[in-house]
Amino acid sequence: MKNKHFFTFFVTLLLFVSCSDKTPVLLNRTEFALGTYCTVKIYGMSEGKANSALKEAFARLSKIESIASAKNPDSELFYVNENAYGNGVVAVSEELFALLYSGLFYSRLTEGAFDITLGAIVELWGIGTENARIPSPEEIAVAVENSGYEHLLLNEAELSVRFLKSGLKVDLGAFAKGYAADEMQRVLIEHGVENAIIDLGGDIITIGGNNGAGWRIGLTDPQNTGEVCAVLRVSDKAIVTSGDYERYFMHEGKRYHHIFDRNTGYPAESGLRSATVAFEHMGIHGAAIHADALSTAFFVMGKEKAVEFVSTFQQINYILIDDGLNFTFSEGLDLEIIK
Ligand code: AMP
Ligand code: MG
Repeated sequence: MKNKHFFTFFVTLLLFVSCSDKTPVLLNRTEFALGTYCTVKIYGMSEGKANSALKEAFARLSKIESIASAKNPDSELFYVNENAYGNGVVAVSEELFALLYSGLFYSRLTEGAFDITLGAIVELWGIGTENARIPSPEEIAVAVENSGYEHLLLNEAELSVRFLKSGLKVDLGAFAKGYAADEMQRVLIEHGVENAIIDLGGDIITIGGNNGAGWRIGLTDPQNTGEVCAVLRVSDKAIVTSGDYERYFMHEGKRYHHIFDRNTGYPAESGLRSATVAFEHMGIHGAAIHADALSTAFFVMGKEKAVEFVSTFQQINYILIDDGLNFTFSEGLDLEIIK
């Protein structure tokens, strides 16, 4: 890449703008997985090594999809959703168990703002599918009744799962991409990758510091999703955004989006248009799953509750954009607001 040239790359949530010739992009691969376009860009290493790193990272991604997708009838999670009520317990793989376990952890931690058991509500609305519609209040009441992490029982000794309610469905969509990004990061680092960007439809991990230049990541303008409203400069961070413009439909001037409030069964109306969470990963993996769970939770909580939550649990970097396009963000971020 030449000095004054930008490369720009649109993703669902964020727009990347990187401008440095210090670490030219070497290999770039995109695949569709977990309902989104997943791209990895590796900078500055030998082509053979980068190729095998990419191959393994994407193999890891498709393995995770075969476990954690709620939509794929062949996935392990799909089997659990069909069988964990009534037929006794369902034994699961260690990996799915670990995901359910941390999902339950974040569900409790956020008091249900993030809740991995909203599958009935998600399915009913069908946002982002051709069956998207506004359900009747009665249907919504039933789906709310059939949701809630308190109806999910995990047995660590047996690695088994049991639902205490018929109709309960687990949906890991709010943090599976973060988990996959973490896992891909681990694979890349094991292969000696030092500078890379993993972008799973807006769940982003930057590896390395772009030789001191940092990576510049643009935040989508919620009111004009083809444009950027702020630029974040980072290195070695996971950055994840939840926004109401990702998947939605409009009806009579009102936006119906894909992030739900389990108390109402309707798309969350917290006054936020987007919530971004950024964590330093310092080469240790696990930052993106954390950022993914919390960005969804903050979106549902709204500004006041999210800020209060952060005051209890320190070291969470966040950027909240409300429906007036006002920014609320934590100190210590290298953030440039351009609108
Ligand atoms: P995200 O874009 O990470 O905020 O995740 C949104 C996805 O997670 C949706 O498409 C649903 O599959 C699922 N979901 C929706 N609302 C919630 C919620 N409150 N807690 C957990 N998962 C949710
Ligand atoms: Mg999320």
